Amino acid sequence: MSKIEINSKLPNLPTTIFTIMSQLAIQHRAINLGQGFPDFSMDSVLHDLVEKAIKDGHNQYAHTFGFQGLREVLAHKISNLYGSNIDSETEITITPGGTYAISNALTSVLREGDEVIYFEPCFDSYVPNIKVMGAKPVAIPLNFPDYSIPWEKVKEAVNTKTRMIMINSPNNPTGTLLGLADFEELKSITRGTQIIILSDEVYEHIIFDGEKHHSILAHPELFERSFVAFSLGKVFHCTGWKIGYSVAPSYLTKEFRNHHQFNVFSVNTPMQVAMAEYLLNPQSFLQLPSLFQAKRDFFAKEMEGCILKPLPSKGSYFQCFTFPESLGTNSRKVALDLVERVGVVLIPVSAFYQDETDNRVLRICIAKKEETLKEAGRRLSVLI
Ligand code: PMP
Repeated sequence: MSKIEINSKLPNLPTTIFTIMSQLAIQHRAINLGQGFPDFSMDSVLHDLVEKAIKDGHNQYAHTFGFQGLREVLAHKISNLYGSNIDSETEITITPGGTYAISNALTSVLREGDEVIYFEPCFDSYVPNIKVMGAKPVAIPLNFPDYSIPWEKVKEAVNTKTRMIMINSPNNPTGTLLGLADFEELKSITRGTQIIILSDEVYEHIIFDGEKHHSILAHPELFERSFVAFSLGKVFHCTGWKIGYSVAPSYLTKEFRNHHQFNVFSVNTPMQVAMAEYLLNPQSFLQLPSLFQAKRDFFAKEMEGCILKPLPSKGSYFQCFTFPESLGTNSRKVALDLVERVGVVLIPVSAFYQDETDNRVLRICIAKKEETLKEAGRRLSVLI
Protein backbone atom coordinates (compact mmCIF):
# COMPACT_ATOMS: atom_id res chain seq x y z
CA MET A 1 0.00 0.00 0.00
CA SER A 2 1.32 3.45 -0.86
CA LYS A 3 1.79 5.76 2.06
CA ILE A 4 -0.54 8.68 2.59
CA GLU A 5 1.29 11.97 2.19
CA ILE A 6 1.67 13.86 5.43
CA ASN A 7 2.49 17.54 5.48
CA SER A 8 4.42 17.22 8.75
CA LYS A 9 3.65 19.81 11.40
CA LEU A 10 7.12 19.29 12.88
CA PRO A 11 9.38 18.44 9.95
CA ASN A 12 13.11 17.79 10.30
CA LEU A 13 13.04 17.34 14.06
CA PRO A 14 16.35 15.81 15.13
CA THR A 15 16.38 12.87 17.55
CA THR A 16 16.59 14.45 21.00
CA ILE A 17 19.94 14.44 22.72
CA PHE A 18 18.34 12.49 25.59
CA THR A 19 17.36 9.60 23.34
CA ILE A 20 20.85 9.51 21.83
CA MET A 21 22.65 9.70 25.17
CA SER A 22 20.36 7.28 26.99
CA GLN A 23 20.84 4.67 24.25
CA LEU A 24 24.59 5.12 24.55
CA ALA A 25 24.37 4.82 28.32
CA ILE A 26 22.76 1.38 27.95
CA GLN A 27 25.17 0.30 25.22
CA HIS A 28 28.25 1.25 27.27
CA ARG A 29 26.76 0.48 30.68
CA ALA A 30 27.62 4.06 31.54
CA ILE A 31 26.52 6.10 34.56
CA ASN A 32 23.68 8.28 33.34
CA LEU A 33 23.97 11.81 34.72
CA GLY A 34 22.31 13.02 31.54
CA GLN A 35 18.55 12.99 31.82
CA GLY A 36 16.94 14.77 34.77
CA PHE A 37 15.49 11.98 36.83
CA PRO A 38 16.44 10.87 40.36
CA ASP A 39 17.83 7.38 40.89
CA PHE A 40 16.94 7.39 44.59
CA SER A 41 13.65 6.36 46.17
CA MET A 42 10.81 8.71 46.73
CA ASP A 43 9.37 9.21 50.21
CA SER A 44 7.68 5.96 51.25
CA VAL A 45 4.96 8.01 52.98
CA LEU A 46 3.78 9.25 49.59
CA HIS A 47 4.04 5.77 48.19
CA ASP A 48 1.82 4.46 51.00
CA LEU A 49 -0.70 7.25 50.50
CA VAL A 50 -1.18 6.20 46.85
CA GLU A 51 -1.72 2.60 47.92
CA LYS A 52 -4.27 3.78 50.46
CA ALA A 53 -6.04 5.96 47.85
CA ILE A 54 -6.33 2.97 45.51
CA LYS A 55 -7.60 0.70 48.30
CA ASP A 56 -10.08 3.40 49.38
CA GLY A 57 -11.57 3.28 45.89
CA HIS A 58 -10.25 6.51 44.31
CA ASN A 59 -9.94 4.83 40.95
CA GLN A 60 -12.39 6.52 38.60
CA TYR A 61 -12.01 9.75 36.61
CA ALA A 62 -11.11 12.73 38.72
CA HIS A 63 -12.75 16.12 38.19
CA THR A 64 -11.53 17.58 34.92
CA PHE A 65 -9.96 20.59 36.72
CA GLY A 66 -8.29 18.25 39.22
CA PHE A 67 -9.19 16.68 42.57
CA GLN A 68 -10.66 19.56 44.58
CA GLY A 69 -8.81 18.54 47.78
CA LEU A 70 -5.48 18.86 45.98
CA ARG A 71 -6.35 22.20 44.41
CA GLU A 72 -7.29 23.55 47.86
CA VAL A 73 -4.04 22.39 49.47
CA LEU A 74 -2.07 23.94 46.63
CA ALA A 75 -3.91 27.27 46.97
CA HIS A 76 -3.09 27.23 50.70
CA LYS A 77 0.58 26.45 50.02
CA ILE A 78 0.82 29.25 47.45
CA SER A 79 -0.73 31.68 49.92
CA ASN A 80 1.76 30.70 52.66
CA LEU A 81 4.82 30.77 50.40
CA TYR A 82 4.11 33.71 48.11
CA GLY A 83 1.37 35.67 49.88
CA SER A 84 -0.91 35.44 46.87
CA ASN A 85 -4.59 34.70 47.03
CA ILE A 86 -5.26 32.02 44.40
CA ASP A 87 -8.77 30.68 43.84
CA SER A 88 -8.64 26.88 43.74
CA GLU A 89 -11.97 26.78 41.83
CA THR A 90 -11.03 29.03 38.95
CA GLU A 91 -7.23 29.43 38.87
CA ILE A 92 -5.61 26.01 39.44
CA THR A 93 -5.78 23.05 37.07
CA ILE A 94 -4.07 19.72 37.79
CA THR A 95 -2.12 18.45 34.77
CA PRO A 96 -0.25 15.33 33.65
CA GLY A 97 3.09 16.99 34.42
CA GLY A 98 4.81 20.30 33.83
CA THR A 99 5.51 19.64 30.14
CA TYR A 100 1.78 19.44 29.50
CA ALA A 101 1.07 22.51 31.66
CA ILE A 102 3.42 24.38 29.29
CA SER A 103 2.21 22.90 26.00
CA ASN A 104 -1.47 23.29 26.88
CA ALA A 105 -0.92 26.95 27.84
CA LEU A 106 0.74 27.53 24.46
CA THR A 107 -2.10 25.71 22.69
CA SER A 108 -4.66 27.81 24.54
CA VAL A 109 -3.45 31.23 23.44
CA LEU A 110 -1.03 31.12 20.49
CA ARG A 111 -2.16 31.77 16.96
CA GLU A 112 -0.38 31.60 13.65
CA GLY A 113 2.10 34.44 13.23
CA ASP A 114 2.43 35.20 16.96
CA GLU A 115 5.97 35.64 18.23
CA VAL A 116 7.21 34.03 21.43
CA ILE A 117 10.36 35.29 23.12
CA TYR A 118 12.26 32.64 25.04
CA PHE A 119 15.78 32.32 26.40
CA GLU A 120 18.48 29.88 25.35
CA PRO A 121 19.73 27.48 26.54
CA CYS A 122 16.27 26.15 27.46
CA PHE A 123 14.22 23.04 28.16
CA ASP A 124 13.75 21.30 24.84
CA SER A 125 9.94 21.12 24.77
CA TYR A 126 9.47 24.88 24.31
CA VAL A 127 10.37 25.37 20.64
CA PRO A 128 8.44 22.45 19.06
CA ASN A 129 5.35 23.43 21.02
CA ILE A 130 5.58 27.02 19.81
CA LYS A 131 6.15 25.93 16.22
CA VAL A 132 3.28 23.45 16.12
CA MET A 133 0.92 26.36 16.81
CA GLY A 134 2.24 28.18 13.74
CA ALA A 135 3.89 30.74 16.01
CA LYS A 136 7.47 31.95 15.73
CA PRO A 137 10.03 31.18 18.43
CA VAL A 138 12.32 34.18 19.01
CA ALA A 139 15.45 33.03 20.83
CA ILE A 140 17.42 35.37 23.04
CA PRO A 141 20.71 33.86 24.26
CA LEU A 142 21.42 34.27 27.97
CA ASN A 143 24.66 36.06 28.85
CA PHE A 144 27.58 33.67 29.26
CA PRO A 145 28.94 32.59 31.73
CA ASP A 146 26.48 33.89 34.33
CA TYR A 147 23.41 33.03 32.22
CA SER A 148 21.64 36.27 33.19
CA ILE A 149 18.92 37.72 30.94
CA PRO A 150 20.09 40.48 28.56
CA TRP A 151 17.04 42.69 29.11
CA GLU A 152 18.11 45.28 26.55
CA LYS A 153 17.94 42.57 23.88
CA VAL A 154 14.47 41.59 25.07
CA LYS A 155 13.31 45.19 24.69
CA GLU A 156 14.71 45.28 21.15
CA ALA A 157 12.95 41.99 20.26
CA VAL A 158 9.48 43.04 21.46
CA ASN A 159 7.12 44.20 18.72
CA THR A 160 3.39 44.19 18.01
CA LYS A 161 3.48 40.48 17.13
CA THR A 162 5.03 39.48 20.48
CA ARG A 163 2.38 37.39 22.19
CA MET A 164 4.37 35.69 24.88
CA ILE A 165 7.58 35.75 26.91
CA MET A 166 8.67 32.44 28.49
CA ILE A 167 10.82 32.36 31.62
CA ASN A 168 12.17 29.48 33.69
CA SER A 169 13.50 29.71 37.26
CA PRO A 170 15.18 27.72 38.80
CA ASN A 171 16.54 27.14 35.34
CA ASN A 172 17.14 23.98 33.38
CA PRO A 173 19.92 23.61 32.24
CA THR A 174 21.81 26.50 33.85
CA GLY A 175 20.83 26.19 37.53
CA THR A 176 20.35 29.98 37.77
CA LEU A 177 17.56 31.91 39.47
CA LEU A 178 15.65 35.01 38.48
CA GLY A 179 15.72 37.83 41.03
CA LEU A 180 13.51 40.80 41.88
CA ALA A 181 15.35 43.03 39.39
CA ASP A 182 14.37 40.61 36.59
CA PHE A 183 10.73 40.86 37.58
CA GLU A 184 10.93 44.67 37.54
CA GLU A 185 12.31 44.50 33.98
CA LEU A 186 9.54 42.15 32.97
CA LYS A 187 6.94 44.52 34.43
CA SER A 188 8.27 47.50 32.56
CA ILE A 189 8.45 45.55 29.27
CA THR A 190 4.96 44.05 29.47
CA ARG A 191 3.04 46.96 31.03
CA GLY A 192 0.37 48.22 28.62
CA THR A 193 0.98 45.39 26.12
CA GLN A 194 -0.94 42.25 25.13
CA ILE A 195 2.01 40.03 26.09
CA ILE A 196 1.27 36.87 28.08
CA ILE A 197 4.00 35.38 30.30
CA LEU A 198 4.62 31.70 30.73
CA SER A 199 6.63 31.06 33.89
CA ASP A 200 8.09 27.56 34.18
CA GLU A 201 8.67 26.97 37.90
CA VAL A 202 8.89 23.17 37.98
CA TYR A 203 11.99 23.27 40.23
CA GLU A 204 10.30 25.64 42.68
CA HIS A 205 11.51 23.77 45.79
CA ILE A 206 14.93 22.73 44.58
CA ILE A 207 16.91 25.75 45.58
CA PHE A 208 20.27 26.11 47.31
CA ASP A 209 22.38 28.30 49.64
CA GLY A 210 19.39 29.74 51.53
CA GLU A 211 18.22 31.47 48.33
CA LYS A 212 14.55 32.27 47.87
CA HIS A 213 12.47 31.17 44.90
CA HIS A 214 10.92 34.30 43.41
CA SER A 215 7.65 33.10 41.96
CA ILE A 216 5.71 35.17 39.49
CA LEU A 217 2.76 34.39 41.77
CA ALA A 218 4.16 36.90 44.25
CA HIS A 219 3.86 39.72 41.68
CA PRO A 220 0.16 40.48 41.08
CA GLU A 221 0.87 42.85 38.18
CA LEU A 222 2.70 40.04 36.32
CA PHE A 223 0.48 37.19 37.46
CA GLU A 224 -2.52 38.93 35.83
CA ARG A 225 -0.99 38.03 32.45
CA SER A 226 0.69 34.71 33.34
CA PHE A 227 0.45 30.97 33.12
CA VAL A 228 2.64 29.30 35.76
CA ALA A 229 3.70 25.66 35.31
CA PHE A 230 4.59 23.37 38.23
CA SER A 231 5.60 19.72 38.52
CA LEU A 232 4.90 17.53 41.54
CA GLY A 233 6.81 14.72 39.83
CA LYS A 234 9.99 16.82 39.72
CA VAL A 235 9.88 18.12 43.27
CA PHE A 236 8.89 14.85 44.94
CA HIS A 237 11.27 12.71 42.84
CA CYS A 238 8.58 10.68 41.11
CA THR A 239 9.01 12.02 37.57
CA GLY A 240 7.32 8.91 36.16
CA TRP A 241 4.04 9.84 37.81
CA LYS A 242 3.64 12.77 35.41
CA ILE A 243 1.66 15.03 37.69
CA GLY A 244 1.83 18.80 37.89
CA TYR A 245 -0.40 21.86 37.78
CA SER A 246 -1.06 25.12 36.05
CA VAL A 247 -1.88 28.33 37.89
CA ALA A 248 -3.28 31.25 35.92
CA PRO A 249 -5.85 34.02 36.44
CA SER A 250 -9.40 32.83 35.77
CA TYR A 251 -9.72 34.31 32.25
CA LEU A 252 -6.57 32.45 31.15
CA THR A 253 -7.46 29.31 33.11
CA LYS A 254 -10.81 29.27 31.30
CA GLU A 255 -9.00 29.06 27.95
CA PHE A 256 -6.56 26.49 29.35
CA ARG A 257 -9.41 24.27 30.58
CA ASN A 258 -11.31 24.52 27.27
CA HIS A 259 -8.43 22.62 25.68
CA HIS A 260 -7.54 20.50 28.69
CA GLN A 261 -10.99 18.89 28.93
CA PHE A 262 -10.63 17.51 25.40
CA ASN A 263 -6.92 16.73 25.53
CA VAL A 264 -6.77 14.54 28.63
CA PHE A 265 -10.02 15.32 30.47
CA SER A 266 -8.48 14.45 33.84
CA VAL A 267 -5.32 13.29 35.61
CA ASN A 268 -4.89 9.96 37.43
CA THR A 269 -6.98 10.02 40.59
CA PRO A 270 -5.03 8.06 43.28
CA MET A 271 -1.89 10.17 42.82
CA GLN A 272 -3.92 13.36 43.20
CA VAL A 273 -5.63 12.12 46.36
CA ALA A 274 -2.27 11.04 47.81
CA MET A 275 -0.56 14.34 46.94
CA ALA A 276 -3.39 16.27 48.61
CA GLU A 277 -2.72 14.50 51.88
CA TYR A 278 1.06 14.52 51.56
CA LEU A 279 1.16 18.29 51.01
CA LEU A 280 -0.73 18.91 54.25
CA ASN A 281 2.65 18.49 55.94
CA PRO A 282 4.80 21.45 54.81
CA GLN A 283 7.93 19.47 55.69
CA SER A 284 7.24 17.47 52.52
CA PHE A 285 8.56 20.41 50.48
CA LEU A 286 10.48 22.43 53.08
CA GLN A 287 13.02 19.61 53.43
CA LEU A 288 13.85 19.55 49.71
CA PRO A 289 16.43 22.39 49.50
CA SER A 290 18.76 20.73 52.01
CA LEU A 291 18.32 17.28 50.44
CA PHE A 292 19.33 18.50 46.98
CA GLN A 293 21.96 20.96 48.16
CA ALA A 294 23.72 18.10 49.95
CA LYS A 295 23.89 16.27 46.63
CA ARG A 296 25.24 19.29 44.77
CA ASP A 297 27.90 19.83 47.47
CA PHE A 298 28.81 16.15 47.65
CA PHE A 299 29.39 16.00 43.91
CA ALA A 300 31.36 19.28 43.93
CA LYS A 301 33.75 17.70 46.45
CA GLU A 302 34.14 14.57 44.36
CA MET A 303 34.95 16.77 41.34
CA GLU A 304 37.48 19.00 43.12
CA GLY A 305 40.56 17.84 41.19
CA CYS A 306 38.76 17.32 37.89
CA ILE A 307 39.46 19.32 34.73
CA LEU A 308 35.71 19.93 34.37
CA LYS A 309 35.05 23.13 36.33
CA PRO A 310 31.67 23.97 37.89
CA LEU A 311 29.61 27.02 37.03
CA PRO A 312 27.49 28.14 40.00
CA SER A 313 24.18 26.29 40.44
CA LYS A 314 21.59 27.90 42.70
CA GLY A 315 18.76 25.47 42.03
CA SER A 316 17.20 22.73 39.86
CA TYR A 317 18.41 19.15 39.34
CA PHE A 318 21.43 20.45 37.44
CA GLN A 319 24.91 21.89 37.57
CA CYS A 320 26.88 22.94 34.50
CA PHE A 321 30.60 22.29 34.11
CA THR A 322 32.97 23.88 31.59
CA PHE A 323 35.68 21.78 29.97
CA PRO A 324 39.08 22.82 28.59
CA GLU A 325 39.89 22.89 24.87
CA SER A 326 42.22 19.95 25.43
CA LEU A 327 39.11 17.72 25.53
CA GLY A 328 37.77 19.20 22.29
CA THR A 329 35.80 22.19 21.10
CA ASN A 330 32.54 20.54 20.10
CA SER A 331 30.52 19.78 23.23
CA ARG A 332 28.34 17.19 21.54
CA LYS A 333 31.42 15.26 20.39
CA VAL A 334 33.07 15.61 23.79
CA ALA A 335 29.95 14.25 25.52
CA LEU A 336 29.86 11.26 23.11
CA ASP A 337 33.57 10.71 23.72
CA LEU A 338 33.18 10.73 27.49
CA VAL A 339 30.68 7.89 27.34
CA GLU A 340 33.23 5.71 25.55
CA ARG A 341 36.31 6.93 27.41
CA VAL A 342 35.09 7.05 31.02
CA GLY A 343 31.56 5.62 30.96
CA VAL A 344 29.69 8.72 32.12
CA VAL A 345 26.76 10.31 30.28
CA LEU A 346 26.54 14.12 30.44
CA ILE A 347 24.49 16.45 28.24
CA PRO A 348 26.14 19.07 25.99
CA VAL A 349 24.49 22.42 26.75
CA SER A 350 24.90 23.31 23.06
CA ALA A 351 21.96 20.94 22.45
CA PHE A 352 19.70 23.42 24.27
CA TYR A 353 20.33 26.12 21.64
CA GLN A 354 18.64 25.99 18.22
CA ASP A 355 21.95 26.99 16.57
CA GLU A 356 24.06 24.75 18.87
CA THR A 357 25.93 27.74 20.38
CA ASP A 358 28.93 26.11 21.97
CA ASN A 359 30.58 27.51 25.11
CA ARG A 360 32.20 24.17 26.04
CA VAL A 361 29.66 23.41 28.76
CA LEU A 362 28.22 20.08 29.91
CA ARG A 363 25.13 19.68 32.08
CA ILE A 364 25.22 17.21 34.93
CA CYS A 365 22.16 15.92 36.79
CA ILE A 366 23.01 15.96 40.52
CA ALA A 367 19.70 14.39 41.57
CA LYS A 368 21.35 11.02 42.11
CA LYS A 369 22.39 8.72 44.98
CA GLU A 370 25.72 9.54 46.63
CA GLU A 371 27.17 6.26 45.38
CA THR A 372 26.25 7.19 41.78
CA LEU A 373 27.75 10.66 42.15
CA LYS A 374 30.89 9.25 43.81
CA GLU A 375 31.53 6.75 41.04
CA ALA A 376 30.85 9.35 38.32
CA GLY A 377 33.25 11.77 40.07
CA ARG A 378 35.90 9.04 40.26
CA ARG A 379 35.58 8.24 36.56
CA LEU A 380 35.61 11.89 35.47
CA SER A 381 38.62 12.70 37.65
CA VAL A 382 40.90 10.51 35.50
CA LEU A 383 40.54 13.02 32.64
CA ILE A 384 43.68 15.03 31.99
N1 PMP B 1 10.22 22.40 32.62
C1 PMP B 1 11.52 22.15 32.82
C2 PMP B 1 12.47 23.29 32.84
C3 PMP B 1 11.96 20.84 33.00
O1 PMP B 1 13.27 20.59 33.19
C4 PMP B 1 11.02 19.78 32.99
C5 PMP B 1 11.43 18.34 33.14
N2 PMP B 1 12.62 17.97 32.59
C6 PMP B 1 9.68 20.09 32.80
C7 PMP B 1 9.31 21.40 32.61
C8 PMP B 1 8.64 19.02 32.74
O2 PMP B 1 8.20 18.51 33.93
P1 PMP B 1 7.33 17.16 33.97
O3 PMP B 1 8.29 16.02 34.08
O4 PMP B 1 6.45 17.32 35.16
O5 PMP B 1 6.55 17.12 32.70
